[in-house]
Amino acid sequence: MTVDYVQAIKEQLHEKDSNQTEFLQAVDEFLATVTPFLEKHPEYEENNLLAILTEPERLIQFRVPWQDDQGKWQVNRGYRIQFNSALGPYKGGLRFHPSVNLSILKFLAFEQIFKNALTGLPIGGGKGGADFDPKGKSDGEIMRFCQSFMTELSKHIGPNLDVPAGDIGVGGREIGYLFGQYKRLCQYDAGVLTGKPLSFWGSLIRTEATGYGVVYFVNHLLAYNKDSFEGKRVLVSGSGNVAIYAIEKLQQLGATPISCSDSNGTIIDEAGIDLDLLKEIKEVKRERLTAYKEARPEAIYVEGSLWDQDVAAEIALPCATQNEINLEQAKQLVKNGVKVVAEGANMPATLEAAEYFIDNQVHYCPGKAANAGGVAVSALEMSQNSQRLTWSKEEVDQRLEDIMKNIYETCRDTAKEYDAENNYMLGANIAGFANVAQAMLQQGLV
Ligand code: NDP
Repeated sequence: MTVDYVQAIKEQLHEKDSNQTEFLQAVDEFLATVTPFLEKHPEYEENNLLAILTEPERLIQFRVPWQDDQGKWQVNRGYRIQFNSALGPYKGGLRFHPSVNLSILKFLAFEQIFKNALTGLPIGGGKGGADFDPKGKSDGEIMRFCQSFMTELSKHIGPNLDVPAGDIGVGGREIGYLFGQYKRLCQYDAGVLTGKPLSFWGSLIRTEATGYGVVYFVNHLLAYNKDSFEGKRVLVSGSGNVAIYAIEKLQQLGATPISCSDSNGTIIDEAGIDLDLLKEIKEVKRERLTAYKEARPEAIYVEGSLWDQDVAAEIALPCATQNEINLEQAKQLVKNGVKVVAEGANMPATLEAAEYFIDNQVHYCPGKAANAGGVAVSALEMSQNSQRLTWSKEEVDQRLEDIMKNIYETCRDTAKEYDAENNYMLGANIAGFANVAQAMLQQGLV
């Protein structure tokens, strides 16, 4: 029976990778939804495809020695996970954060496979990063770290092989330093990294893409349900790249985003987040959110998570990090009137929280669908780089919106096809998996 096959795969992985909690969580969520698809397509079970799919094609781990401003040598661990290349070159961001380890990067790379498949663009799944903490480091330290990181990474990437981008702790500044080092070691090849600054072949709208994309996804969902963002109170967590541009698009569409957060605390601003102030604090000065409260005393600042605050809202967009919403917090959100949860971050809801949303008729939009706008525009950046052309802001934005509409409809329709209406988790997993599985089999499972 297919159910037994799926269970056996799950048990094998739990035994082999018992210490990789986040990776197992991502795989468990995926496996919990794919049985009906496998029953319809026995060829995948016959070829033991799940066992092959859950094993990365390649794991690269390396040391990253670098010198701090005092001239002392430091060392961090660098990684690149090349998980699946059935649909194209490995594609996925680099994360610099002290929590980075193999489990977190494997979960991110695994999710990336299906996310990238959902975009309909020719990109495989990968992820990488280092347990380096950019917070409190000088520009010079960041530069020396990035140069050392790329000295090793450059041996494993290329425009037709593996094309990294940014993620937590890696923005335009870091991509610039990484690119400079790649150029010095290999050759000038714009297509080797995405999320580049506009001055050397970055794409317009890439910075905004993930945040805008989440909001476009929800906008289509609302429109399908004869509703809109107009006048809605929205909770947003995080105050990085994804959160800032989600807030920007929400305001453009008539909603009122009333919160943002960082790893220390939460701002609740009932009048709506002051976006210019937030950008100034986070993008220009790189300060903490306490500076927002100082500049805007009418806002509330509390230490701790947004999801512990008892605030009424209709929509929640978690845009910070994995496992930021647990079951108790999910219950409170539902009690407070939240009807849509769309993930700007990757896996911000625990499996129990996600299932609670689905069981309680919340439109729960998983990250692998809702936050695919970032990687989609990264793939558009790759297209522009190979054409040696740059597209206008309007053109990229329109393509992004079309892609997000398509992903929303695919998830919605796939869920319906499998008698699980409004279960976008199932819809996203099956639709992404269907594309990857077919390509893997047609390529001889190599
Ligand atoms: P940034 O580094 O720009 O911002 C991250 C934000 O999340 C910061 O406000 C940070 O606060 C907060 N944060 C990070 N870790 C924690 C934590 N452990 N607890 C509480 N808050 C935390 O990253 P992005 O905005 O790029 O990424 C945010 C999420 O979106 C991640 O899950 C990422 O994987 C996902 N994502 C990003 C994409 C992109 O294009 N950038 C694409 C798709 C998904 P602090 O400053 O205090 O650390």
